[in-house]
Amino acid sequence: MRFYDLIIKKREGHELTQDEIIFIITEYCENRVPDYQMSAMLMAIYFQRMNINEIKYLTMAMVHSGKIIDLSSIPGIKVDKHSTGGVGDTTTLALVPMVAAAGVPIAKMSGRGLGHTGGTIDKLESIKGFKTELSINQFINIVKKIGASIISSTSDLAPADRKLYALRDVTGTIDSIPLIVSSIMSKKLAAGADAIVLDVTTGSGAFMQKYKDALKLGKIMVDIGLELGKETVAVISNMDEPLGFAIGNSLEVKEAVEILKNRGPEDLRDLCLVLGAHMLKLGGVVKNYEDGKNKLEKILKEGIAFNKFKEMVIAQGGNPEIIDNPESLPLAKHSTKITANISGFVQKIDSRLVGESAMLLGAGREKKESKIDLSVGIVLKKKVGSKVNINEDLAEVYYNDSEKLEEAKKKLFSSFVIRNKKMQKLPLILATISKDGVKEFI
Ligand code: URA
Ligand code: CA
Repeated sequence: MRFYDLIIKKREGHELTQDEIIFIITEYCENRVPDYQMSAMLMAIYFQRMNINEIKYLTMAMVHSGKIIDLSSIPGIKVDKHSTGGVGDTTTLALVPMVAAAGVPIAKMSGRGLGHTGGTIDKLESIKGFKTELSINQFINIVKKIGASIISSTSDLAPADRKLYALRDVTGTIDSIPLIVSSIMSKKLAAGADAIVLDVTTGSGAFMQKYKDALKLGKIMVDIGLELGKETVAVISNMDEPLGFAIGNSLEVKEAVEILKNRGPEDLRDLCLVLGAHMLKLGGVVKNYEDGKNKLEKILKEGIAFNKFKEMVIAQGGNPEIIDNPESLPLAKHSTKITANISGFVQKIDSRLVGESAMLLGAGREKKESKIDLSVGIVLKKKVGSKVNINEDLAEVYYNDSEKLEEAKKKLFSSFVIRNKKMQKLPLILATISKDGVKEFI
């Protein structure tokens, strides 16, 4: 087999066989194929796409490029969750203890933030002492003991993805459905859970800005999950504004604690309840979705999820007093506000711009190597649909370094679209996809 011939085969739109796909991935991972040939292959895939069998073989080849975590010693059905990326998306921090408190074990591997989106691991590190780099044994033991743990993804999990993603990033081949599906699903499959709930975001801050594309991505991810023997459900959620009010690491931990105290922003709470209800159903602890939602509402009300989060913080070396007193989380030295220059209704808050603004303040990374400031960020005072008067506050900005403050404020200000008429707001959940088909809510 020659790599060159396979490039031509894909370029001409032919279907690659399983052996050919395995060859492509192993040759590239073992450095027997130069980046320029793999780049040509990625571009051929970008234009010619892949059918479901090719995506399945590609995903499997990527899973087998590294280790598969064995969670079988943890009793129960392990359910994982993944989001394709949001701004101010604090879901994981609240959802993991909620689901664990309801009896579904969750061994979650998460990443760090890059660009305009944040990462769960950075957020957790704003809790003093919290360790995110544990051995797999320690990780499994914590899940066995308390039902939940969140650690940083290890480098031996689907290493093909890391290498391919870096190449896609510089060759204009990120937004290709077969490449996104195989990238996400290979990592999820290698992480060893029995079932997967996917939050596919759409809107200004998301990978898939158009709803139709997000729906297509979600459908293929569910198909691949099912084909590879994992029950998979995808929820398409609207990211046309940041989730909740807070954007920034310690600010988002505070917001997650609010949710766990049965308070907090409605959209974030709703998303946690929806994703969580699907997880409880897949985890076999409730009969149906409605029962799942009711159970989680009760758990929040009774403070059980809040206590579960504290248990997890203690198990991972963090200071639990911080959870009781979130005011003790790191907070930036200064704050300032941006205000409206007209009256009307907020029609849109471009989440990409808000994320980029938070990045300029130091909450996110421009490059992988960039250092971040856990204490800075943004708190929105208005959400889509809110009425605003001229000179009223739109958001508060927390900062330490004023170097890029003006640029950050300008970007944040430009994210708000204010019109004189109130618009119909899209629902947060646009569709659900499972083995039973697609349910659309718009
Ligand atoms: N997230 C991933 O992990 N991979 C992609 O290709 C896109 C989003
Ligand atoms: Ca938030």
